[in-house]
Amino acid sequence: MTHKKELAVFLLIFFSAFTLSDYESKEVAFLIPQSSVYAGELLHLPAKGEYLIGGKKASYYNGRQFAVVGLSKNKQIRITKIIDRKSSFYHRLFGGKIYRSEHQVLEMKRPKLYKDNLLRLPASVWKKVNRQDKIQQERNKLRKILNTEYANDDLGCLQYPIESVRVSKFAAPRTLPNGYAYYHTGLDLRSRSPEPILSMGDGKVILAEHMTSPGNMVIVHHGKGLVSRYMHLSKIDVQVGQQVKKGEAVGLSGGTGRVEAPHLHWEIMWKGNHANPEHFVPLWNRHCSPT
Ligand SMILES: [Zn+2]
Repeated sequence: MTHKKELAVFLLIFFSAFTLSDYESKEVAFLIPQSSVYAGELLHLPAKGEYLIGGKKASYYNGRQFAVVGLSKNKQIRITKIIDRKSSFYHRLFGGKIYRSEHQVLEMKRPKLYKDNLLRLPASVWKKVNRQDKIQQERNKLRKILNTEYANDDLGCLQYPIESVRVSKFAAPRTLPNGYAYYHTGLDLRSRSPEPILSMGDGKVILAEHMTSPGNMVIVHHGKGLVSRYMHLSKIDVQVGQQVKKGEAVGLSGGTGRVEAPHLHWEIMWKGNHANPEHFVPLWNRHCSPT
């Protein structure tokens, strides 16, 4: 009797291991017809199906599937196409996901993180913003706010918040006076004197307050996981919960927070990944339905 039980357990383990190996992922080379992508790029996934990009779900927009590559210190981006999911003995026993998938690894292109791109911050500004404890508290608050979802099925085309020229690129390497090196997560547009900053699309204001590094900041949630942020404002003209239309002013540009000089720092995030506004807006507008 005991031998029969042992045999049953052995067979169960043997077959569940067999099921597991059946559901390993295999490599493909045809999902994206290129081997490298730029940080912050918006990828149009050519085939239908469910994808994970860097572990995050890709997004549908107007029946097409997109994914933001994001901006990370990790150079390799893994795109996984889920073929099917299966509940197995192993799955029920240990939890976790088991699925058959195909994947492709892309190389992320971006500048090197040199330690010599020092921000030329005035000493008075650095003294004001070099407050790590406060910055950490604000980050925690931001994370919670950014995790909220906002339903908006009519999100149309997007626009620039001001008509201006670029003064600093997305993903430009930066070094703070304390030696901390990081990538620029937005696009800086020239705005030396206060001028109206316009919401890039329809949405709802989810934050409108002063924070240490961003200065006066407005965050608009556009729905479908799309968020825009406007920083260093001299004046905030909206309140949390307020609905805004594309092109509606959210405040005036300025030089509050961690800045060398007055400008607009504009950021786009989709599903938690930072997108390069210079590429994101034109590609999004190619697929949006103008309103
Ligand atoms: Zn900036």
